[in-house]
Amino acid sequence: MLTGRMMAFPLTITHLWQRAREFFPTQEVVSRLPDKSLHRQTYADFAARCSRLANALKKLGVGPGDRVATLCWNHRQHLEAYYAVPMMGAVVHTLNLRLHPSELLYIAQSAEDSVLIVDRSLWKLYEAFGPKVTSARHVIVVPDAGPAPDGTLDYEALLAAESDEFAWPTLDENDAAMLCYTSGTTGNPKGVLYSHRSTVLHALVSCMTDTLSLRQSDIVLPVVPMFHASAWGLPYSAVLAGAKLVMPGPHLDAVSLLDLMAAEKVTVAAGVPTIWLGILASLDAEPKRWDLASVRSMVIGGSAAPGSMIEGFASRHGLEVTHAWGMTETNPLGTVANVKHSLAGRSPEERLSLRASQGYAVPFVETRHVNDEGSPLPRDGQTFGELEVRGPWVAASYYGGDGADRFTADGWFKTGDVVTLDGDGYMRITDRAKDVIKSGGEWISSVALENALMSHPAVLEAAVFAARHEKWTERPVAAVAFKPGQSATPEELRAHIEGRFAHFWLPDAYVVVAQVPRTSTGKFLKTKLREEHGDMLLSKPAAP
Ligand code: ADP
Repeated sequence: MLTGRMMAFPLTITHLWQRAREFFPTQEVVSRLPDKSLHRQTYADFAARCSRLANALKKLGVGPGDRVATLCWNHRQHLEAYYAVPMMGAVVHTLNLRLHPSELLYIAQSAEDSVLIVDRSLWKLYEAFGPKVTSARHVIVVPDAGPAPDGTLDYEALLAAESDEFAWPTLDENDAAMLCYTSGTTGNPKGVLYSHRSTVLHALVSCMTDTLSLRQSDIVLPVVPMFHASAWGLPYSAVLAGAKLVMPGPHLDAVSLLDLMAAEKVTVAAGVPTIWLGILASLDAEPKRWDLASVRSMVIGGSAAPGSMIEGFASRHGLEVTHAWGMTETNPLGTVANVKHSLAGRSPEERLSLRASQGYAVPFVETRHVNDEGSPLPRDGQTFGELEVRGPWVAASYYGGDGADRFTADGWFKTGDVVTLDGDGYMRITDRAKDVIKSGGEWISSVALENALMSHPAVLEAAVFAARHEKWTERPVAAVAFKPGQSATPEELRAHIEGRFAHFWLPDAYVVVAQVPRTSTGKFLKTKLREEHGDMLLSKPAAP
């Protein structure tokens, strides 16, 4: 075998930072503050401030491999931690500010965070768990909503005292860069330790035209929080591309986001479907209020984007959705639902169905689906099985060694998603394994039912869950939230979807809710629905 004679140039985040400083110093990072004002800084400021942060952290004793946690909204200081911490050889650990303090304590303890960077606006949350984190030596407060409390370090004061230069170490591309925990909807949260290499490769592939197609002229709004799977890598891919970043801070309601998109002329925005359902409803209610002519793609993932939403954005507002699938364990981008050139001539309905699927795998991610014995299944678009993935930005194990059963002996990661794959490689998620409804031994796809229900004009959100049943073990029940001032009867909802499914798939009952409960990452929380309504189909015990 002959060895190639190319340089062993490490793929590290430092190169992204260096590029931003060298080629795009005037590019902007815009952050929205809690008081709704906008803060602007350039990439030149960002680069200098990263050096200042690294100098400050080094003086505080942060060394190679140490975990520096963030409890922050999406903003410029969080971005600085995303770069400075890994570039100095330490690991940035993003804490999910929507978790319960007991979960945050569990996660910070198991990560052994040595420094915590906390927004002043999240101080109350910090106080409920932070003082109990035994490994934490320092707390640095980002003064976004008032001065740092006594006994803590003020982020801005720390940076003000430091130099614009830092002697960045030469890193190995396999060094750890970031630690993200899964949200624990399937058991205790588990840590996933991204490397510099996985982060950089993921960012590169995210910039490809046929994936998320980020480019230098883009103005990128990560609505997805930086504590959710590294905001899908956008803080890295946008900087790699040299794009402008617009950070929404704590203002994540539809009207605030639409105001920001219009004011900053955002071209790409990304978030979970619940965010976009709200945005679509606001646009439908006031179609002329916002000028969104600049928007070229809204990246939607994290749970299934309903076809009716994709279609509604396109036909009523001229807005294009890019539907993507991923997981914390996959850095997170795995598949993107673009329509291949060879399929572009299909009917509008078929093209919509492709765009509402989870799409096909991006380069270097491989997908297969398997039966209960682990044998690969046919790619016929019909046979259900568990999705397995592998690739350079797919976890090889969890931090701390939990969940070893998710990794197969032949090198695949078991996603827990139940899917079909078709001959063109398009994947369709029918459910997460834990949400699967098994009625009389037959699988019913809650995702397909939800998508159909959400195409009813009065329905804002729909989540279908398994209710216990004496005869069939489980039957589907739909929780439905209506748009303001609208409603529909169970009969009307049933009539709307019944032509599309086998009779036994149709929900046995409909529960009207004000809002479908959400997980900490903004997805429908079906376990809560099951807890509250899971027994509603059982006959009541006879009164004594
Ligand atoms: P959690 O949902 O536990 O907060 P993740 O964000 O890592 O953590 O969730 C990954 C899961 O989200 C996937 O396994 C899949 O079930 C679901 N998911 C992600 N993207 C999509 C999508 N486009 N369509 C359907 N489900 C999705």
